[in-house]
Amino acid sequence: MKDPLLSEYDIVVIGAGPAGLLAALTFGLANAKSGAKRYSVALIDKRDPWREPVSCAEAVSAQGLRDLVPKVEPAWVREPIDGVIFISPNGTRVTFRHPGSGLLIDRALMHKNLAEEGRRLGAHCNFRARATAVSRYREGRRIVKYEGDSSGEIKARVVIDASGPGLGFGQGENITQGNFDVEPALFALVSGLEYPTNYIQMFFGRNYAPGGYAWLFPRDKHVANVGLVIGKQFSKEAPARKTMMDFMAKTYPGVTVETVHGGVIPCGYTHDPLAVENLFKAGDSANMVNPISRAGILEAMKGGQLAAEAALAVLELGLESEKAPIYKAYKDKWDEAYGKANLRIHRAKAPFAGIGDETFDKAAKSLAKIPTEKVTMSRIFLSTLWSTPSLIWKMRSLITN
Ligand SMILES: Cc1cc2nc3c(=O)[nH]c(=O)nc-3n(C[C@H](O)[C@H](O)[C@H](O)COP(=O)(O)OP(=O)(O)OC[C@H]3O[C@@H](n4cnc5c(N)ncnc54)[C@H](O)[C@@H]3O)c2cc1C
Repeated sequence: MKDPLLSEYDIVVIGAGPAGLLAALTFGLANAKSGAKRYSVALIDKRDPWREPVSCAEAVSAQGLRDLVPKVEPAWVREPIDGVIFISPNGTRVTFRHPGSGLLIDRALMHKNLAEEGRRLGAHCNFRARATAVSRYREGRRIVKYEGDSSGEIKARVVIDASGPGLGFGQGENITQGNFDVEPALFALVSGLEYPTNYIQMFFGRNYAPGGYAWLFPRDKHVANVGLVIGKQFSKEAPARKTMMDFMAKTYPGVTVETVHGGVIPCGYTHDPLAVENLFKAGDSANMVNPISRAGILEAMKGGQLAAEAALAVLELGLESEKAPIYKAYKDKWDEAYGKANLRIHRAKAPFAGIGDETFDKAAKSLAKIPTEKVTMSRIFLSTLWSTPSLIWKMRSLITN
């Protein structure tokens, strides 16, 4: 998509990943609801957000996705997920059944369809435009500079920074940056393995992926997404690529890994503001990822939706003092949706990363004796804690507020 860009918009959204797409969709739906097109919107990205492979394992909660988009297109669903198989360091497998709980999605197609819908609802979509700078807010505008197939400047009344992980825009301003607890993650698309297509597999323990976990998430019957994320504090002692190759050699000997794709995941929770002077952050650029599961797709979509709703309110206001409650409400709503839970998980992350391989093995051994239909998430959690009682104290933040 390469819509010509105008020199002025009410709203510029930078980044057409899950956060930016939901922001554009929310603006479009609001415009449609108001009867006449009310606000002009540009959605820019430096590249087509459907370029394969999207750097992701593509697992989401089924209900979570249904809650966020008008319709989950059947074509977005690679496979339904009916549960998780946890694998401990010595290979003991524990199956947690939760039929219909998740989806493995074709993110590339979902991105494409959401961009088409945003465009149908009025957004100008240009995916050959890399934002290079966003000015401070002056005289009711920010200036977005971009380059790509063409270069230029856009005056914007509101900017949504949905540009993903790493230092984004608004540096030096009192706003969160997506550069907190950034962890390396790698994956390969592998064929020739055997696995149930309706279960995701997660490997916990230092011998797989210190401070993080390794995974096998099916794409279909033939191809699986196999990868890992390493805890930030372990990334020097366990370099991601070597750890990935060791994991593959140990777990799937004989399988040839041709290409490995990489990414980073900004986990954690930040207390910094999510918006300042008509600049809003959403998704990875605002550290919205779940600190332990490292899930960030729905979190980014929710962030983009909430940022857009707040931006619509801010467009009606002039004074910063009037806008401050809107910025706060955006953060409060985010906290209510995911942020508070992420904060609790963030506090428990270091003790969780400290769980030794023997503890996982002990917990898995006792859980493996329980019939699959009786294995619940809380049983898995408690069994792990009981294997090392001192962890109960360390991980109290997960249980208490
Ligand atoms: C290997 C890996 C596996 C993962 N697996 C899962 C999973 O299974 N489930 C899950 O929920 N989460 C997963 N995540 C996390 C998830 O992918 C992210 O949290 C999610 O993509 C965040 O969405 P976003 O819109 O904030 O950012 P992104 O998806 O990163 O989108 C940002 C967009 O901005 C564009 N952009 C960047 N800079 C600029 C610029 N200057 N100008 C214009 N455009 C720009 C990029 O091209 C990109 O399209 C995984 C992450 C990784 C790395």
